[in-house]
Amino acid sequence: MNVKTSLFINSGFLLLSGLVLMIQENVLLLLSGFFLLFAGISSLLCALGVFEKTPAPVAFKKWVLFRVVFLISMRICPLLGVKKADLAEYFIQVSNTINGKLQGNILLLLPRCLQNSTCKNDVCGDVENCQRCGRCQTDEIVGISPENVTVRMAGGGRQAMNIIEDLKPDGVIAVACEEELAEGINRVWHIPIHALRNLRPNGPCQDTCVDIYKLKDKLEEIAKG
Ligand code: SF4
Repeated sequence: MNVKTSLFINSGFLLLSGLVLMIQENVLLLLSGFFLLFAGISSLLCALGVFEKTPAPVAFKKWVLFRVVFLISMRICPLLGVKKADLAEYFIQVSNTINGKLQGNILLLLPRCLQNSTCKNDVCGDVENCQRCGRCQTDEIVGISPENVTVRMAGGGRQAMNIIEDLKPDGVIAVACEEELAEGINRVWHIPIHALRNLRPNGPCQDTCVDIYKLKDKLEEIAKG
């Protein structure tokens, strides 16, 4: 089953549950019914692609998308046979579309697993420690990043959040696996994020890389302003 079909079923389930709860006399059940109805309608709009086209504020669309639809769908859709990674990737695509162009001071967040596993330099502490040997893409990425893009490498979600809190960027380009990206967007939904899924030719978390052409396109777009 694909993600959109799964979201349609998800919305049907939520709408039905919401309606059932709304005919109860208990106030708490009534409020829960309202919430499920809201979540069901949002899930339906997401499956129909309405979120990408409506002129509603980006922050509101992202709040509904990640704080309501995504969190509920991550629990229901896997029961319908949809992989969490596929679902996360779908939400990332929608989020990238509604975020539009990134402007201002941008943070480029790379995952630690992008660093060559035999490299002993503390690139996670500071990418300037990269000796630019070319054994991994850190070298090329640092080289192609324009002045208003700060490149940082994070060893996990918590460190990534700390970096974002420290630097307070206007926008973020984040490279990681789908689920980490979706989780990150979910946490900092108020910041415009362009997420780029990493490539894992050696399996998860080891010597990963990124589609350098896609990243270059994003960096060039930022450099043009
Ligand atoms: S390019 Fe930099 S980070 Fe990658 S292996 Fe060489 S020194 Fe280490």
